[in-house]
Parts: sequence; structure tokens; C-alpha cells
Amino acid sequence: MIPAAFDYVRAHSPDEALTELQKHGPDARVLAGGQSLIPAMRFRLARPAVLVDINEIKDLDYVRIGDGTLSIGAIARDSAVERAAWIGDRRWSLLHDVSRVVADPVVRQTGTVVGSLCHNDPAGDWTATALAARASVVVRGTAGSRTVPIDDFLVDSFTTAVTEGEMALEARFPVPDDRTAGSYQKIERKVGDYATAAAAVQVSLNADGTIRAAGIALSAAGPCAVRVSDAERLLVGQKPGGDLIRAAADAAAGKSAPQADLRGSVAYKKNLASVLVVRGLHRAFGRLGVNV
Ligand SMILES: Cc1cc2nc3c(=O)[nH]c(=O)nc-3n(C[C@H](O)[C@H](O)[C@H](O)COP(=O)(O)OP(=O)(O)OC[C@H]3O[C@@H](n4cnc5c(N)ncnc54)[C@H](O)[C@@H]3O)c2cc1C
Repeated sequence: MIPAAFDYVRAHSPDEALTELQKHGPDARVLAGGQSLIPAMRFRLARPAVLVDINEIKDLDYVRIGDGTLSIGAIARDSAVERAAWIGDRRWSLLHDVSRVVADPVVRQTGTVVGSLCHNDPAGDWTATALAARASVVVRGTAGSRTVPIDDFLVDSFTTAVTEGEMALEARFPVPDDRTAGSYQKIERKVGDYATAAAAVQVSLNADGTIRAAGIALSAAGPCAVRVSDAERLLVGQKPGGDLIRAAADAAAGKSAPQADLRGSVAYKKNLASVLVVRGLHRAFGRLGVNV
């Protein structure tokens, strides 16, 4: 279908983009990779009167590590993360895994990480990953910039903390320490499909082998990605073990609240959530040399 008529503005700086967003208020939308927004417009699910294209703001095209933070600019493509020099480092194994299963290579060449977070699809892959990795998003508006923890950023399906006249500038992921590994486990009907269910896991160990920190989140398990706090709490301070992993998986099934659709029933998806948490934890601990 052809989208409803709209005006188009190309911004060359964040200031220019913000001026346009503020001028047009609720009628304006940021256009990043367009991989979600354009299909939504074609289906007439979205009818913005003005698109503010940020793709020419070259200052926002970066993926860089410094001061203990991985920063991903608003127009950095998924493929830039997938191809980053450091992506094979064990510490980044969660991002390594997810960067290979979001959509397909063609979509990843255009779609942006920040756009995915802003889109906040219930079955998105970056949102669950950002929760498990305790990421944050830098949001800018008239009153200046603020850094929003991902738990506060993801408000509801397709809704975030970005308000009218604002835009997201970058996503920030804390650089994990040397005893950290993760895993992203996704079941999809075919390559390029959204998750039927997915689990993002990241764990850090103390020198004595106990778990120092844990991040566990699910996708396609509710209105938006969900943190499994009970499982995280269960793990911290304990030694990795089979019973512990099973308890974390039970917590994940309890927290999962999926919708039945063509991809499967509620019971099937809840079961998948727990199975994927088990697989994710085994994989993450295995990457740290702990075979449970
Ligand atoms: C065939 C296909 C398969 C896909 N499969 C998957 C999948 O398996 N998993 C998955 O997670 N995603 C999937 N996607 C979605 C894809 O990853 C998108 O790229 C992503 O969801 C949005 O990124 P984008 O840069 O294209 O954003 P856009 O489509 O440009 O924007 C999406 C929304 O976010 C807003 N937005 C974007 N950037 C900003 C910003 N900087 N500040 C404020 N608002 C902003 C826009 O206004 C819009 O509302 C798929 C897409 C396609 C076409």
C-alpha cells in the first residue's frame, strides 16, 4: 500500500532535527533506518504528517568504546555492531549473538540499534538485550540531554520515554569486566522473522566463582521486553549450578506473559521462555569456562 501523504525534512545536525520536531509537534516522526516506520506507514498504521530524516547527521554515525561505555550513535546500523573489531571478545558475547539474529543481513544494513530501542516492538531483539546489559539511552530535547536507564526508557508497546519534540541521540552499554559473558537465544520461524520467544542473558563472576551480577530479559513475552528480576536476584551470590539454572528458568516462565498468535500458543511461548533462559545461562557460563 502507498503511505498517506507526508512532508519530508532532511536534518544535518541534532539541533536542526530538534527544531523541526518541535515545530511540528505530534505530527512529526524521526526517520532513522526506516525499517519499521516505512512499513508501518505503508500499512497506514502510522500517518506522520512530517518525517524528519536524521540519516545525514553524520556526527551520530558511530560505535565507539571509551570511559567504560560502548556508545552507539543514532544512525549507527545494526551491521556496524555486527562487524565491530571487538565483537568477538567474550565480554561482548551477548551483543555478538544478537547482532547476528536481528532480522536479516539486508535489514541490518539499514536498521539502527537506537531506532529499534525507540520503536520498542514487543518482539524486538535489541530491547531485551539492552535490559540484560543494563544499557541506557541519551535523549535530547529543548531542556537539554538526559540519560535514561533502559528500564525507564521502555514504557509500553511502541512507547518510550522519548516525548514530543525530543529525539534519542545514542545508546550506552556499560563495558563488562573480564569475567563477564552473555548469550542471546532466539526461536524464529525462519531467518528474518521476529522472535517467537527470545532470552537475553549476561552474567559476571567473582574471583571465587560466585555470580557477581546477572541480567536476564525476555522478548515476545509481554507488551515490551521484560526483565526477569526474580531470576537475577536468585543468581547473584551463588555458584553456577543446575538447580539454580532451573530455578531461574521457572522464574522466567512465571514472568513471561506472551500473546497467542500464529507463532504459537501462550503455553508454548512460556515454555520456550524458560527453555531459552536455561540455554542462555548454560552458554554464558560455558563461555566463562564453567560447565554446569
Ligand atoms: C523484514 C524485517 C524483519 C525484521 N525483523 C526484526 C527482528 O527479527 N528483530 C527486531 O528486533 N527487529 C526486526 N525488524 C525491525 C528492524 O530491526 C528495524 O530496523 C528496527 O526496528 C527500527 O530501526 P530503524 O532504524 O529502521 O528505525 P525506523 O523505522 O526509522 O524508526 C522506528 C521508530 O523509532 C523512531 N525513531 C527512530 N530513531 C529515533 C531517534 N533517534 N529518536 C527518536 N525516535 C526515533 C521512529 O520515529 C519510528 O517511530 C525487522 C524489520 C524488517 C523490515
